[in-house]
Amino acid sequence: MQGQSESSSSSGSFRPGSFRKVVVLGAGTMGHGIAQVCAAAGYTTTLFDIEQPAVDRGLARVAQNLDKGVARGKVSAEQRDATLQQLSGSADFDAAVVGAELVIEAVPESISLKQRLFADATRVAGDEVVLATNTSSLSIDTIAAAVPRPERVIGTHFFNPVHIMKLLEIVVGQRTSASVLAAIQGFGARIGKTCITVRDSPGFATSRLGLVIGLEAIRMVEEGVASPADIDTAMCLGYGFPMGPLRLTDLVGLDVRLSIADYLSEQLEQGAHFKPPALLRQMVADGKLGKKSGQGFYTWE
Ligand code: NAD
Repeated sequence: MQGQSESSSSSGSFRPGSFRKVVVLGAGTMGHGIAQVCAAAGYTTTLFDIEQPAVDRGLARVAQNLDKGVARGKVSAEQRDATLQQLSGSADFDAAVVGAELVIEAVPESISLKQRLFADATRVAGDEVVLATNTSSLSIDTIAAAVPRPERVIGTHFFNPVHIMKLLEIVVGQRTSASVLAAIQGFGARIGKTCITVRDSPGFATSRLGLVIGLEAIRMVEEGVASPADIDTAMCLGYGFPMGPLRLTDLVGLDVRLSIADYLSEQLEQGAHFKPPALLRQMVADGKLGKKSGQGFYTWE
């Protein structure tokens, strides 16, 4: 799949992987990990969130991941220190975004929020900035409609935990330029990910397939077919999944999965596959969001 050729003649073309400053918006489950892999690859990286405690929590999680890596012999002490040196945090949007060449957003799954942040990022960093969204399902083209240069917008769908999972699903909108696609492919290689390229379509390749299995597993719990642990064991030992669909739902966050299911059930012709089970809606309403809240299909320490 190829992006469109750059419609504007101004600079627009990047050497692959040549971004100097990367800013990650949202320091939650995904954002802190994205910031970590960018800093580890040598990018000057700033992690932004709306409140300083959220920024601090994100930075602390990065430090914790790196310390674990050192303890397990996966990361050297020098690599950990070099990564932390490349990384800073801020709760001041303009100070964080000024001078950015690549902005990656990892804020909650809301089109209007993502649109607003990209419009603000363009205002602060200028319209040459590349705007990458970590959305799991939303339309790249719709998000891109909010900025003056939609050819600078692309999907970079990372997987959780970001510093461990090898896949980067690159999602190309109708207007995404070929030079932006090439730059993001170069970026993906530099941060050590295997990239796949997918056309902008609800749920892309990964969320659309993964969610069908996750929702069906929840329906099976709802119907009392088997316990969450037994359903997960079935898929791990019977089908070679590295992790069962209910444990994965806990890791992703039940709220995140519910919002993707709602969106896909509206957007796709085969919407019935994606209709959220009542149990999922109830658990989210009860605050059982999975690992991040301590309780989902499993209890988490
Ligand atoms: P999360 O709830 O863990 O984190 C979101 C963060 O965004 C929070 O820290 C919140 O304070 C911050 N935030 C809210 N409004 C903001 C704003 N205006 N500016 C900056 N930060 C703001 O969510 P998450 O699980 O990290 O998901 C983020 C995105 O990544 C979503 O689009 C989701 O669909 C996608 N995604 C999630 C996963 C997953 O496994 N959780 C996997 C792939 C993609």
